[in-house]
Amino acid sequence: MTEKLNNNVDFKELAKFEAIAESWWDKKSKFKPLHDINPLRADFIDQRCNIAGKKAIDVGCGGGILSEALAERGAQVTGIDMGEAPLAVAKLHLKDSKLDIEYLHSTAEDIAPQRAGTYDLVCCLEMLEHVPDPASVVQSCHDLVKPGGDVFFSTINRNLKAYALAIVGAEYILNLLPRGTHDYDKFIKPSELSKAARDAGLIVKEIVGMTYNPITDKYKLGSDVDVNYLMHCQRPQA
Ligand code: SAH
Repeated sequence: MTEKLNNNVDFKELAKFEAIAESWWDKKSKFKPLHDINPLRADFIDQRCNIAGKKAIDVGCGGGILSEALAERGAQVTGIDMGEAPLAVAKLHLKDSKLDIEYLHSTAEDIAPQRAGTYDLVCCLEMLEHVPDPASVVQSCHDLVKPGGDVFFSTINRNLKAYALAIVGAEYILNLLPRGTHDYDKFIKPSELSKAARDAGLIVKEIVGMTYNPITDKYKLGSDVDVNYLMHCQRPQA
């Protein structure tokens, strides 16, 4: 138990993704929400840091949906994940996409000391709500990025509306996600993520909400951060 916590990995959380990893690239599967939000978040990142030519690391990359979007836009990408099955799927998918991405089985904490200050761009999306100590991941993301580089996080807010929409709505009513995907207690308020980012030495530049309209089945970015949100941070120039 102690060893698991020291590594900042929750194996029960990893198992949720191992179980369904084979359908990662099926846009009609439980991964539909990630496919649907991917262009929005890739655009958000691109508009703020111009992805082309950047050296990027995708922390908790899963089956590689964002990693591939970054590579398609011209970044040199490393994807890391602690799930064996998601990583295997990510590597296999390169045969279809013909992209060149380095996938590694690692935590952010393990790779940060070896690759400190190496990346122009660090992304850690939809992952912080699955780890025992999100602040430790935030610190490692800071350590991985170059001075002046960009870091992007996304996660789920913690309030009654987030519980109602992200758990009851998405998992029980709309069946968008497998039941048990998310634990309410692990949701993170924007104020808490901002504090973790500042404590790690990052500057919080912007927070935007991501909302889902079940009638149109469309997502959009905007000012409503009540449920899903994205955060753009920068490491100060040296
Ligand atoms: N970031 C991807 C996948 C999100 S799913 C995307 O948004 O498209 C969350 C992923 O985090 C899973 O693949 C899971 O295996 C991974 N994960 C959970 N805990 C982790 C940890 N401590 N270190 C690295 N990856 C982890």
